[in-house]
Amino acid sequence: MKFADRRFGNPASSQSYVVRVLVLTGAGVSAESGIPTFRGKAGYWRHIDPTKLATPEAFARDPQLVWDWYRERRQGIRNARPNAAHAAIARLAQCTDDFLLVTQNVDDLHARAGVAAEKMVKIHGDIFVTRCSHSEFCRRDYDQEHEHEHEVRIPTCSKCGAFMRPGVVWFGEQLPRNELERVEKFLDSGACDVVIVAGTTATFGYIIDWALRGSRDGGKLIEVNPEETPLSRFATRLVREPAAIALPPIVDELVGSRSSIL
Ligand SMILES: [Zn+2]
Repeated sequence: MKFADRRFGNPASSQSYVVRVLVLTGAGVSAESGIPTFRGKAGYWRHIDPTKLATPEAFARDPQLVWDWYRERRQGIRNARPNAAHAAIARLAQCTDDFLLVTQNVDDLHARAGVAAEKMVKIHGDIFVTRCSHSEFCRRDYDQEHEHEHEVRIPTCSKCGAFMRPGVVWFGEQLPRNELERVEKFLDSGACDVVIVAGTTATFGYIIDWALRGSRDGGKLIEVNPEETPLSRFATRLVREPAAIALPPIVDELVGSRSSIL
């Protein structure tokens, strides 16, 4: 069954075709909402390269500095708004029978655009989670910190007293096992009709691996990124534009058959 023969978001269909879509996103999608990426001079904070701050070593050396940086990033994210790329992905999620978004972004913009938690894997963690650096204890700090914007201390664990850290995956750390299992489960339960990789330079091997496994059975592999990436040579369609410009018409095209059916 070719993709073109299947239908997006047609609950009235008596056929049991399942349209499966995997979307992989990275920093480029959030950059258009004004959230700085780690790459290039623009990502520097107080003249420090963020890739030197987002490490367990940096936290061990200077937890205060790392927290100052993350608090500023949290505030920047609270002030940001989802853009047209987030909205397009949320629409695609709603119009697809079997959908998974795997985002490398630790912000909450996909969620605020309307992608449900069960359709999204935050593979690099969640910046609004604060977790213990020793025990399993963690909490979500979105509102709490909002009330204590001027809080400047390093938070400590109420269970064991150790320093708390942001609930994100730092360079050199393992990906969260539960989230990894969700991606594997989705990939194991069938090939996708469409895989979209947007706003990521696909520098991590697992992003390439998931994109290729998702599109293994003749599915479309659409890459949306202004620059060439290691994934480009495998893509069936390359769109060299920012995600906020490229994704709305792509999603329109994919779900376009819907309006003629309903
Ligand atoms: Zn603890």
